[in-house]
Amino acid sequence: MQQDSEASMAPIDQEAPAIVVTCPATGEMVGSVPVTRRAEVDAVAARLRAGQPAWQAMGVDARAGWVAKWRDWILDHADELVGLVQRESGKSWGDANIETMATDVVNYWIEHAAAFLADEHVRPAGPANIAKRLTICYEPYPLVAVITPWNYPLAMPLSDIAPALLAGCAVLSKPSEVTPLAWRAAAFGWKQIGAPDVLDVVFGAGDIGSAVTDVVDYVMFTGSVNTGRRVAVAAAQRLIPCSLELGGKDAMIVCADADIDRAVDGAAWAGFFNAGQTCVSVERVYVEEPVYDEFVEKLVAKTATLRQGMDAGHDYSCDVGAMANEAQLTVVAGHVDDAVSKGAKVLIGGKARAAGLFYEPTVLVDVDHDMDCMRAETFGPTLPVMKVRDALEAITKANDSNYGLSGSVWTRDKSKGMALAKLMNTGSVNINNAILSVFQYPLPMQGWKDSGPGSRAGGAHGIRKYCRTKGIAADRVAMKREPFWYPHTPRKGRIMSAVARLLQARDWRRRLGR
Ligand code: ADP
Repeated sequence: MQQDSEASMAPIDQEAPAIVVTCPATGEMVGSVPVTRRAEVDAVAARLRAGQPAWQAMGVDARAGWVAKWRDWILDHADELVGLVQRESGKSWGDANIETMATDVVNYWIEHAAAFLADEHVRPAGPANIAKRLTICYEPYPLVAVITPWNYPLAMPLSDIAPALLAGCAVLSKPSEVTPLAWRAAAFGWKQIGAPDVLDVVFGAGDIGSAVTDVVDYVMFTGSVNTGRRVAVAAAQRLIPCSLELGGKDAMIVCADADIDRAVDGAAWAGFFNAGQTCVSVERVYVEEPVYDEFVEKLVAKTATLRQGMDAGHDYSCDVGAMANEAQLTVVAGHVDDAVSKGAKVLIGGKARAAGLFYEPTVLVDVDHDMDCMRAETFGPTLPVMKVRDALEAITKANDSNYGLSGSVWTRDKSKGMALAKLMNTGSVNINNAILSVFQYPLPMQGWKDSGPGSRAGGAHGIRKYCRTKGIAADRVAMKREPFWYPHTPRKGRIMSAVARLLQARDWRRRLGR
């Protein structure tokens, strides 16, 4: 598959510069892709636009058939695709393999698309409109951009593109220049099943991302806050909508009555999974004073058991993989160094490995909110843990952040968990768990504050966001003419005023004009 896909998607323009992808764990070259030229972006967009009307016209069931075929192709080639993910991002095999979970979200959209996109009939408002028949239609933005970062090279574009295709849009995707290979192969799958020409992929860095936003009707963007702002400005200038899923600084609150062993295992997984490179990873932990020592001791012990490396033999012999690129490794090391220089203690980890872009899973204590590790997004395998007097202090600290993506509350008391969840200024909260709310597709994954305006999933909204709504008002019974149509006359005016008063006032004195 790989050979085929690479051959078929090879650069047409042999002169074009290439992006050479190296494995962050081993430094070996994994492959390369041609950088798409700006003019080519325009040409691809024009081609996709030309194919979109027929795609929309074939109806949601036929589109679902194609997306299902693509899902099957991806499942049939899962090992090769995940192999590419692993080699281009340096993940452990177990972490990389989780990317195939995205076929689950594809199925959710396949199964619900028809219902979510069906015309809706809504009741007219007020007696004056009683004879209206009101319909809301969902019609796709013709061309949608899906611009993705490097942390989930397969799962991220797949999760965002499937609902857009099902909505009837054509999709122009641009994967990160750091990890373009797995997505190129998956997009090739769309071609290989013979699907209509409504999905394509272009390659390059920010300039190509910006060329993409210039030619589409809607932008689904996932990435950093700074780039998100640029995308928002570009979209605003073109008056097109965008959905931005940006960073997070998710807080984990551990109450004294929590199941501490579960909380420790949860923190280790949700903090170090994908080497901490997950927007909804646990970035900071607040633990109530009575259980703080026990939590920290057990967390350090758990961290010590983690095996770091890239198990290229796919034998699940490693837990935590590499950082995907050097710039991110530098950010993580910078946050730890900053914390230590301000008085924090490293209880385990706290350094990069000599070979490969590995940063050791790290537990920090004696941290405070003057440190970058508690305020800025680290996006790495670090867990700074802070002792708090009680859960309300934890909430105050959790909300002391420019981000508002997600968070978690750990307690055995269900109503306390719910109450604390409601106090968190984030778009989602997990109770006694972390990260997994993103797999609850009926729930919206919405960013608050700098985590970005926009959301994915959320039941019907997750697919309707790729559509323009059209409200159709029809008359059940058509009169010869409406009472307020021309010409105006004193008699009609008096009747209209009397009727308006009668219908709109909520007391008899006003209804009768007294
Ligand atoms: P990260 O460092 O997490 O990848 P970025 O926000 O820099 O975050 O990049 C996310 C995606 O956005 C990448 O595919 C990148 O190439 C793309 N990108 C970067 N700059 C722009 C831009 N100005 N317009 C559109 N896309 C961009």
